[in-house]
Amino acid sequence: MALVVNSLASGSSGNCILVRDDNTALLIDAGIGIRRIVAALGDVGVDPADLSGILITHEHSDHIAGAVRIARRYRVPLVGNALTLQRISDAENVPTRVLDVDEEMTVGELLVRPFPVSHDAAQPVGYAISSNSATVVSATDTGILTPRIRDEAAAADLLILESNHDEEMLLKGPYPWYLKKRIAGERGHISNDTASGLLLDLADSGKLISVWLAHLSKTNNSPKMALTTAQYLLWSCLGTTMDIDVALRDVPSLCWRQADHAAQLGLFTHESKLSCGV
Ligand SMILES: [Zn+2]
Ligand SMILES: [Zn+2]
Repeated sequence: MALVVNSLASGSSGNCILVRDDNTALLIDAGIGIRRIVAALGDVGVDPADLSGILITHEHSDHIAGAVRIARRYRVPLVGNALTLQRISDAENVPTRVLDVDEEMTVGELLVRPFPVSHDAAQPVGYAISSNSATVVSATDTGILTPRIRDEAAAADLLILESNHDEEMLLKGPYPWYLKKRIAGERGHISNDTASGLLLDLADSGKLISVWLAHLSKTNNSPKMALTTAQYLLWSCLGTTMDIDVALRDVPSLCWRQADHAAQLGLFTHESKLSCGV
């Protein structure tokens, strides 16, 4: 079954990624309002009642703002570790499934594996989601790239990777010092330079991979800055480029589809708008 992934929103004002195959649809986070989620799902032909789960990365509001309302109204389980689920207020009377870090769970036809990231939340995770022929890895909201995150990224066909800020823009920008320190800290968010360094390693190893740069700061970054930083590093160090796109903040933006039969060939198609909706 071919995987299809849509970015419904990505950034510090809300995150929501749809991952599906022919028979299973999951959200990674539901950090925007229920109306926007339902509308965005409708645009790609997905009934919210058909969602098999909402995978929660951590309890910050830009990841859970619409989660409880979706879960309650459509009886969709929130999936996450116990510490994170406990931090979500109003989550009584909604279906939940506890999935601890480093355990795996089959949701519908998809295998879901959370892995630890480094962020100032109770027990933050990224997710690797696999069909029998492709893997999507989402790693955002992490202040450092651990060996584990690197290993997960190297196994991805589509990597959704945080590229939160330009280091100079953050340093010189308007945020108060404590916030700058938090963002740049080990439990904050990774910069364009850090994300690009991982992409350089992946490209150097010859891995054919699609990349979405995600969770961009509105104040301390821009899509052009994030993309240019990555492509410049790849080009100047290796004389190559990668299939890299930038997930936009407040609107549905990217769609990635594993082409039929492409897995065997190691080739994947890519579209940059929601045209692969239905
Ligand atoms: Zn976030
Ligand atoms: Zn966060």
